[in-house]
Amino acid sequence: MIDLAALEGSSYVVLGLARSGLATVRALRAAGIDCIAWDDHAPAREAAEQAGMPVVDPASVDWSRRSALIISPGIPSWLPKPHPVAIAARAAGKPIVCDIELLARAQPQARFVAITGTNGKSTTTALIGHILGQAGLACQVGGNIGRGALDLAPLGAGGTYVLEMSSYQLELLQTFRANAAVWLNITPDHIDRHGDLAGYVAAKAHIFDRQQPGDCAVIGIDDEASRAIYRRMAARPGIAAIPVGREMAGGGLSFRAGRLVDAGGHVADFADVPTLPGDHNAQNAACAWAVCRWLEVPCDRITAGLRSYPGLPHRQEQVAEVGAVIYVNDSKATNADATARALSSYRDIYWILGGQAKEGGVAPLAEYFDRIRHAFLIGEATELFAGQLEGKLAYSRCGDLQSALEAAHAQAQRDLAARGGRRGVVLLSPACASWDQWKSYEHRGDAFRAMARALPGARQLGRAA
Ligand code: ADP
Repeated sequence: MIDLAALEGSSYVVLGLARSGLATVRALRAAGIDCIAWDDHAPAREAAEQAGMPVVDPASVDWSRRSALIISPGIPSWLPKPHPVAIAARAAGKPIVCDIELLARAQPQARFVAITGTNGKSTTTALIGHILGQAGLACQVGGNIGRGALDLAPLGAGGTYVLEMSSYQLELLQTFRANAAVWLNITPDHIDRHGDLAGYVAAKAHIFDRQQPGDCAVIGIDDEASRAIYRRMAARPGIAAIPVGREMAGGGLSFRAGRLVDAGGHVADFADVPTLPGDHNAQNAACAWAVCRWLEVPCDRITAGLRSYPGLPHRQEQVAEVGAVIYVNDSKATNADATARALSSYRDIYWILGGQAKEGGVAPLAEYFDRIRHAFLIGEATELFAGQLEGKLAYSRCGDLQSALEAAHAQAQRDLAARGGRRGVVLLSPACASWDQWKSYEHRGDAFRAMARALPGARQLGRAA
């Protein structure tokens, strides 16, 4: 836990009592700092009260006595409609910040690596943390991934915090400075919270605020909005702006699936690493490489880290194999864009999809249909997807995940016996939210992993999760 003694004399209101809010209240109280806590959901309040936290309705707060509002990034402080507590704090002229701001104030000697982008944040954050850890550097990984920022261990001088940061968190910072900032990519997302694409880009661009000469900005340049950001950062004096792209002409890092080349001509090959499939993971690996090189980790240590990266659950996670068929859990793919990454990474796919459909369904995935041997439909989206696949791809209506897995398994094994040799992939990449049949994408993915590992003759791949 982070020691917040440096904030002595302050007094806070903490709004939102999930992972990061609870860690914030614990750290404030451990340091003897006055705070009150609130969550609009009664069960969250009850759990906090049972843990002995000071739960007080902030409607009755005397803001003149409070230093700031610490808000959970999931709660709107501005768009689409500010939470009433945020309105009250702002009216009283009090700052609204998130837990990462407190971490930065409490650990002024440490180095901070911040990662943002529309896609690939968690993977790149975990990858950088893994490489630095393997190379023997003192580091802690958190923010939007894993533990709350104030739950992390204190590091002090020489230590590095590697933090995944959403646009919401980036808007709630006042003094935080990223010594190394990673900007992966931008596609339209969360527009309701930011007004429009320009608002979303502007929120994310806060990652570069307060960077100083000598700091580094690693920027993926494969979309127009990100190229504009790169041009802006390259013009800032003293900042090491490093472009990362598929087609790079000198000066930066280029990548394609399974391989990257840096400005110095160093090459890393990871085509046979099952936890980093596809072009998208090569972008993540290239950004991780650039940060680690900037932190002066030797090239061979970075390559070793890429090669031993254990992967994250639910993101193209290889969970089992039966004969020459592998079983892949990509439950995190809750929209067509994410599913496209998985479909583009394999051939001979037995594709399990469905759940609660997103706008457009699977129509945008037609270019990958020649990689798919059969589609197995589940959940609410079944009839919508059946209509979209009709005449283009063989499919079956399976109802639920267990039936879909059994059908996909049987067909993959049958085809393999007939065809010989070639590997097949049974892929859960639903392109849908999970809430029709599951509590979350994690719940759905955990179930798939357990079911696949229970298939007759299954050999477990990856971690025992
Ligand atoms: P995030 O934390 O930004 O949601 P993750 O690392 O959890 O990203 O990856 C989520 C999904 O996004 C992956 O399963 C994959 O489909 C897709 N993805 C990962 N990295 C990238 C990337 N660099 N570009 C585009 N899509 C990506």
